[in-house]
Amino acid sequence: MTLLTPAHSARRGPLDPRAIRRDFPIFERNPGLVFLDSGASAQKPAAVIDGVAEYYRSDYANVHRGVYRLSARSTELYEQAREKVRRFLNARQASEIVFVRGGTEGINLVANSWGASMLRPGDEVLISELEHHSNIVPWQLLRDRIGFALVVAPINATGGLDLAAFEARLGPRTRLVAVTHHANATGALLPVETIARLAHARGAKLLIDGCQAAPRLPVDVQAIDCDFYVFSGHKTYGPTGIGALYGRKELLDAMPPWQGGGDMILNVTFEKTTFQDPPSRFEAGTPDISGAIGLGIAVDYMEALGREAILAHEEALTDYGVDRLSRMAGVRLVGAGQRRLGILSFQVDGIHPHDVATVLDQHKVAVRAGHHCAQPLIDKLGLGATTRASLGVYNDESDIDALAEAVAAAQKMFRR
Ligand SMILES: *Cc1c(COP(=O)(O)O)cnc(C)c1O
Repeated sequence: MTLLTPAHSARRGPLDPRAIRRDFPIFERNPGLVFLDSGASAQKPAAVIDGVAEYYRSDYANVHRGVYRLSARSTELYEQAREKVRRFLNARQASEIVFVRGGTEGINLVANSWGASMLRPGDEVLISELEHHSNIVPWQLLRDRIGFALVVAPINATGGLDLAAFEARLGPRTRLVAVTHHANATGALLPVETIARLAHARGAKLLIDGCQAAPRLPVDVQAIDCDFYVFSGHKTYGPTGIGALYGRKELLDAMPPWQGGGDMILNVTFEKTTFQDPPSRFEAGTPDISGAIGLGIAVDYMEALGREAILAHEEALTDYGVDRLSRMAGVRLVGAGQRRLGILSFQVDGIHPHDVATVLDQHKVAVRAGHHCAQPLIDKLGLGATTRASLGVYNDESDIDALAEAVAAAQKMFRR
């Protein structure tokens, strides 16, 4: 199979969103589309769409079972994708990468395998007020089974994580810290290296929800020194239904399976079953083979653009958006702490966020309105709902201008 390389892989330096848009067929099929909802799910480059189709055309067979060449080739492509994800996160070895259905499933895996086997009544799991429901609900479900305490570190007045309060909540019973790298509802970046140092100093393990960070900044799990890191393929310009969990080898090795079935066993009798080593132990059944291969192509695409270049692009465009929106009367940006990236969450005085989003849609500006799967945070901020624009590699200043103009049109319309 020939893996398609992005058109501009030869280019280096700053991103050229206009050229990048030509890599994404959705923009050709939907003329005038201003897509500002990549935080919910990113669009897919032709390299991913065609690469998945090409795999089905040329190389498809189930993995890890067949003795025939086609199955061996399919297995090789699937394992190559794992190696690409290893490089994307700078994990030490490919066996530390488990393919999962998405960010949600990655966190549920850690809860139901590591959590269910390690946590005891009286233990504590520390999360933050900035979490997506995916990093709240699995811990509540497990807490209700086991009886540990779920402790929540608050935000500060600017909307960032209150580090002093976080540290104060780290105690001798804290077994796990589970926090987002980048808050999806507001765009606040968390100081994950500092959090790792503090957590490990108290003997706690650290899980990071990287669903919003992985598409935007270079991620190095060794430099962060986290124990688990999850992200989803569909937000990193890859297919839906696939994501990855990084787990430190010593931890994965000691963790029991959470789902049973084919592909994860060594030997099965009706009395007793022995299990494969990680990552197979955690990939029961036929995996999303094409999804993994598509994710491999997507991370190749991001590497070809340059992770640092993507970050610089997101930073510059975020600054432009903050500047543009904060100069508009009646528009209030939601605070995102010391460092905001890629997400502009705002309210327009006198207009419900759903009405704002509806008017924006009439101007072909696609944004999200609501609590963004972070209801406790939005409640804490006393907001109920916000309108959220989130950026991707294909956005440029003209998209922010279109957003601002459409917001102004909504204001005009509702003033009547
Ligand atoms: C999207 C998102 C999730 C959930 O990821 P899925 O891929 O939809 O399962 C979890 N956390 C954050 C911060 C997200 O943005």
